[in-house]
Amino acid sequence: MDKMVITCAITGAETTREQQPNLPVTPEEIANATYEAYKAGASIVHVHARNNDGTPTQAPEVFREIIELIRQKCDIVIELTTGGAVGMTAEERVKVVALKPDMASLDCGTVNFGNDYIVNTLPDMRHFAREMEKYEVHPTLECFDLSHIYASHILIKEGLIKPPYHYGLVLNVPGGVKYEPDVVNFFLSKLPKDSYCTLMGIGRSCLPMHFGAIANNCFIRVGFEDNIYMDKGVLAKSNAELVERAVKISKDAGLQIATPNDVRNLFNLRKI
Ligand code: ZN
Repeated sequence: MDKMVITCAITGAETTREQQPNLPVTPEEIANATYEAYKAGASIVHVHARNNDGTPTQAPEVFREIIELIRQKCDIVIELTTGGAVGMTAEERVKVVALKPDMASLDCGTVNFGNDYIVNTLPDMRHFAREMEKYEVHPTLECFDLSHIYASHILIKEGLIKPPYHYGLVLNVPGGVKYEPDVVNFFLSKLPKDSYCTLMGIGRSCLPMHFGAIANNCFIRVGFEDNIYMDKGVLAKSNAELVERAVKISKDAGLQIATPNDVRNLFNLRKI
């Protein structure tokens, strides 16, 4: 793939309006922000949902509304979270797969998440993978740790995940693995053949990760889930502004920007 695929993680589960006043929260705000990110060059949107009071929800009816509103506007590849938020049960988190999004995240293990803990057992991961296969949803294998990559090898060996694989390396989560170029190189060396990888750098690592992605033939993720700043102390005006910067850096490196259709062809997703 000689094009840069940019994912925009619009809302996430943790970012608040107090931290980022322009955070999209309602289905309509999330759909509008998605459309702006799409126009700026994002080909995948990573979706979390919120209740009206801003707290995270994994209610399928809220995700259904978000999908419908996005689909009225554009053909961007829709990836739903099955990570949800800290404290949600696995059964609660996986329900949205039945909405048949194009893709969904599949967390590949247990990890520190600040003062909390994300829990994913192998039986949970197998269940998530089977549900994704049933509803023809392509998994993004989110790995926060080296052990998560090895856990993904087990799912692949058991035939639960089919190539081409889409990995997401999530680095710089507080209490997790830091973003460091040698760490990224080592993690990438352990991915199976037929893998594509999106680098997800949390907080201040997000911008350096753009360059790490370009250097390693990986893809970029931006958005308020991962980072709310354009510069030290300068909040981004929108998710689209972060996408615009990723587009500029990629083009400066001589890359074209992938369209949603390019991503559909790459991962054999359904056409719309
Ligand atoms: Zn997420």
